[in-house]
Amino acid sequence: MCDIVPPKKHFITKVIGIAVFAALHSPAAHAHFAPEAVPGGVAEIRVANAEAPRPQVRFDGRPVLLQQRRNGWFALVGLPLDTPVGDRQIDVGPDGDSRPLPFAVGPKAYPVQKLTIKNPKMVTPDPADLARIDAERARQIDIRSRFRDVPVARADLDLPAEGRLSSRFGLRRVFNGEPRAPHTGLDVAVPAGTPIRAPADGVVTLVDDLYFNGKTVFVDHGQGFVSMVCHLSDAGVSPGQAVRRGEVIARSGSSGRATGPHLHWSVYLNGAAVDPALFIAPPPAR
Ligand code: ZN
Repeated sequence: MCDIVPPKKHFITKVIGIAVFAALHSPAAHAHFAPEAVPGGVAEIRVANAEAPRPQVRFDGRPVLLQQRRNGWFALVGLPLDTPVGDRQIDVGPDGDSRPLPFAVGPKAYPVQKLTIKNPKMVTPDPADLARIDAERARQIDIRSRFRDVPVARADLDLPAEGRLSSRFGLRRVFNGEPRAPHTGLDVAVPAGTPIRAPADGVVTLVDDLYFNGKTVFVDHGQGFVSMVCHLSDAGVSPGQAVRRGEVIARSGSSGRATGPHLHWSVYLNGAAVDPALFIAPPPAR
């Protein structure tokens, strides 16, 4: 679920934000994909030699993103926030003839964020709005669960807009004293009307105006790797449209459940919302 500019600016977030931006915007530096096998993270698992034909890999019955690199075939497995810590497995091979490949999921503690929302309908919607909310949820689950089978050359993403990283992924949210779903994206503080850019090449799969998320655009980067941007004032693209990394796809706003203008960006892998910050990590130190 999407939202909200937090009331206070946190110094540490600010420092990290500045460091990320310094790295992202120095001309020689490229953002870097930094997998982390934790709930809400990504397990990167080598599944075959580079010379092998493309393997078939599933996690919880869903196909996962595969990349062929110099040193092998790698599965990038999105781990939902409610993934239990401990041993998990992927299934490698054709359906009915696969072998389990175990991997470990480590712990990660996400902080609590308490927020006050003025419009009580945005915390506890009217029964009349629930049917709409349920239909919208189903539509979004369908969009982010698709598997468009094209090669995905890069796992790093570009931040869709420059600004302070305000609410981080995974915050356990309490709205007006009531526990609600955790924050499944990354918020960037930007004024209304800021250009929002495609984080990577892809195809637009949904442009919609949703109860909580407001104006929303989904971009499918291939093999179940999906970005969603929301609380937009305006979407400049249509479903089916191919977009390039860096291309302007929308303008920021405060539509839906938002306390003020900002960008909310979610990233999905095999249907699971994962931490967008993992895809925009500063390059490793040399
Ligand atoms: Zn958000």
